[in-house]
Amino acid sequence: MRVLICGGGVIGVAIAYYLSLRGAEAVVIERTGIANAASGKSGGFLALDWCDGSRLSELARRSFALHADLAGVVPDGGYRRLTTFGGFGGAGGRKTVTWISDRIAIERKLGSTATTAQIDPAGFTRGLMRAAEAHGATLRRGAVTGLIRDRDRDRVTGAIVDGERLEGDAVVIAMGPWSILAAAWLPLPAVYGLKGHSVVYRTGDAVPPEALFLEVGEPGGGVASPEVFPRPDGTTYVCAISSDSPLPVDPAEVAPDPGAIDRLTAIAARISPVLAGAPRIAAQACFRPVTEDGLPLIGAAPGLRGAFVATGHSVWGMLNAPATGEAMAGLILDGHSREVDLAPFDPGRLGPFDAARFRTE
Ligand SMILES: Cc1cc2nc3c(=O)[nH]c(=O)nc-3n(C[C@H](O)[C@H](O)[C@H](O)COP(=O)(O)OP(=O)(O)OC[C@H]3O[C@@H](n4cnc5c(N)ncnc54)[C@H](O)[C@@H]3O)c2cc1C
Repeated sequence: MRVLICGGGVIGVAIAYYLSLRGAEAVVIERTGIANAASGKSGGFLALDWCDGSRLSELARRSFALHADLAGVVPDGGYRRLTTFGGFGGAGGRKTVTWISDRIAIERKLGSTATTAQIDPAGFTRGLMRAAEAHGATLRRGAVTGLIRDRDRDRVTGAIVDGERLEGDAVVIAMGPWSILAAAWLPLPAVYGLKGHSVVYRTGDAVPPEALFLEVGEPGGGVASPEVFPRPDGTTYVCAISSDSPLPVDPAEVAPDPGAIDRLTAIAARISPVLAGAPRIAAQACFRPVTEDGLPLIGAAPGLRGAFVATGHSVWGMLNAPATGEAMAGLILDGHSREVDLAPFDPGRLGPFDAARFRTE
């Protein structure tokens, strides 16, 4: 079976990996490059039980376990367990975390090495694509601009890529926030892009494996919620500052909002003297894909054969990619997922987006 996967973010790549493990021919079609969007610029933080009590719990727990297995498959993926703390700007609190400023108070431990872990998002996504390729998957660079239907129009039989027709037995839309483009081709619910900013510092061995979720006053007023993730490669990632800036149609045009990186740099300097003095090696922005009800869309496109969607993973796309990929492989090849119940994520639960509302100028 030949499956065309539109989008080479972590979700599309995970689907390709699990399909290729099962002997299917997976073709990833990617417009800019593997992991060039959110899947290469996110935090890469993973948690076993932070989705408990929500409909994501089963997907998240399965994914957390699969990430530990994939550490052997993707040696450059930066997987490690870490300890996670929550805190706020202010004096006092426990001095459990020694590398942060006296102006940050640690309030509580949010996770242990049994419940929290991390990956390097770009390293993981690109490494998983290489693992898929080792099992026969292929990468096709190009922009998907439409789908091919059979004569009765009730079955999708391929995709249009840079004006060329590519045939496939099934097509998966996994273009992150750009999956909204597919609402013009399929009866799919809306997917929106929520922008976030991040900076990365070269911190060497000055920062131990301690992740931080903080509430910090900004120098110019207001409160930010930075997340800080030291990585095994001697870098430390800091993200904060969401915005509702519009999603550009071309993923290569995503850029930080004016002033956002200066604000984030000031926040990082306030968190730790190590960050204040370290060289900054990346300053970037990306869009997380979100849906109307906050749950991902994982399943068959309503009313059509051969068309599937996997997107809308919001703040947990890196965590939930492996179980999404595994479940999608089951759905496409066997007609159902054995490991995770996909019913809560059925794309048919939300009404289709009216593509007439969509403007690309
Ligand atoms: C600041 C920030 C921090 C985050 N931190 C975490 C975290 O710590 N843990 C976690 O689990 N999640 C985190 N996330 C969320 C996570 O990054 C996303 O949920 C995940 O990356 C989404 O993956 P995706 O494959 O759906 O989409 P993307 O990574 O956006 O991939 C979509 C791909 O589709 C391609 N594409 C677009 N249009 C076309 C087209 N027409 N033809 C072909 N290809 C196309 C794009 O080029 C892109 O490569 C974070 C997100 C942000 C923004």
